[in-house]
Amino acid sequence: MANVSAKRYVCKVCGGEYIVTREGSGELFCCGRPMTVKDAEVSVKPAAKAAAQKGARYNCSACGTQVLCITPGNIPSCCGRPMEKQLMRIDAVSE
Ligand SMILES: [Zn+2]
Ligand SMILES: [Zn+2]
Repeated sequence: MANVSAKRYVCKVCGGEYIVTREGSGELFCCGRPMTVKDAEVSVKPAAKAAAQKGARYNCSACGTQVLCITPGNIPSCCGRPMEKQLMRIDAVSE
């Protein structure tokens, strides 16, 4: 099973976890603090990835960052504004 190379971010305040599917120039914030990058060696379980793909996707219209929510928390922000929630799939994550 291939590992997901995307970075995983966590918010230590609300416990929200996100996988970055497209990286932009902005910095991810949640609960008013920068989110923490989880160690890359922590691989995303296929079940979590599948759940994430059905779950909420947030996107930053300013820098183009896209994240998938794997553990719901508060709404993440990027570039100083709340990210936009999208339930539809825009495109498949390229593997
Ligand atoms: Zn949070
Ligand atoms: Zn941004």
